[in-house]
Order: sequence, then structure tokens, then C-alpha cells
Amino acid sequence: MNIFQEVKERVTARQVAERYGLKVRRNGMACCPFHNDKHPSMKIDQNYYCFACGAKGDAVNYVALLFGLSQFEAAKKINEDFSLEIPIGKTEVGRKRKPEVHKKEKVLTKEERIQFLQKKIDGWVKDAANVLLRYLRWMEFWKEFYKPESTEEEWHPLFVEALQNESKISYLVDMLMFGTDEEILAFSGMEGRR
Ligand SMILES: [Zn+2]
Repeated sequence: MNIFQEVKERVTARQVAERYGLKVRRNGMACCPFHNDKHPSMKIDQNYYCFACGAKGDAVNYVALLFGLSQFEAAKKINEDFSLEIPIGKTEVGRKRKPEVHKKEKVLTKEERIQFLQKKIDGWVKDAANVLLRYLRWMEFWKEFYKPESTEEEWHPLFVEALQNESKISYLVDMLMFGTDEEILAFSGMEGRR
């Protein structure tokens, strides 16, 4: 079991969220800290899911987003704050904690959180656009390389794939690169919830 699994086995998203200040109602709903939530839209228990902005994840990822930490730093923070005493790497055992750990205690402001999320989303969009662009280049290549010599010749499956997907993919690339935030969010939601 790795550190992430071990932490998640020991504490729920709800436990960490409450520890770091989230008020969870008896029905398990809370005001989402990741968007401007006026009425509780977030369901939180073992994991969390926001019905309004779509933020979702587990205990580790909640802490990472809340404090602007990497997944690993977040797992370490939970390990320390909840005294789980999961040994992380050899160097951690028996070593005195460095005082600068406490500098990270500060909860990010809403603006900083939004910036942090925006950066993550921008990175994701860039990656997605790059993958699709590469795929697009391949399809252009297949369209030439596997072009049937005559009308009798059976079409190569990659030639067919290129014909079918090229316009759809180039539309997606355009949208990722030039679309509005709303369009991109709608796309990521659509792809993720199949
Ligand atoms: Zn939300």
C-alpha cells in the first residue's frame, strides 16, 4: 500500500475537511470551498463531490487543493496533523521536523484557490490539446499514406478512422485552444462523466 492509499484508508475526506474548517451539515452536505457556494452543493463523506462546480476527489486531493500543495505534501500534512504515524520514506523516521513546515499552515484565500485551480486546469487543457494535436497529425499522415490507389481497393482501417475523426478532433483542438472557459468546462464534464 502506498502513502496515498494508507492515508485514505485511515481518514475520510469529511474528517479532513472538518478539521480544516469546513462545516458539514447532518445530511452530509457542505458549502463547497472551491467555488463561490452560497447553498451547500458539496456532498462529502469518504470522498467529496460538488454538484455545482464538479470538484471531486478524496481526502488527500481535498487538502492539496485547499492548501495549494502537491498530492504528496498533502498526504504528509494529513499524516502529521492526524498523527497517523505512517512512515514516509527513510529520512522521515526519527528526524526532527523542520520548523518551516508551519509556514504552509495558512489556508489559501478563495482567490488564491481559484488561481491554483486555474493553473491546474490550464495545464490539463494544454496536455489535452497536445495529445489531440499529435493525433491530428497522425490522421493527416494516414490519410495520405493509406489512401486507396483505386476505387476497388478496400480501405485501410486507419484511413477510415482519419476520415471519420479528423474534423471532430480539429474542432476539439480549436475549442481547447480558443474556447471560452465555459466551453472547456462543459467539454471536460462531458468527457469525464460517461
Ligand atoms: Zn463547488
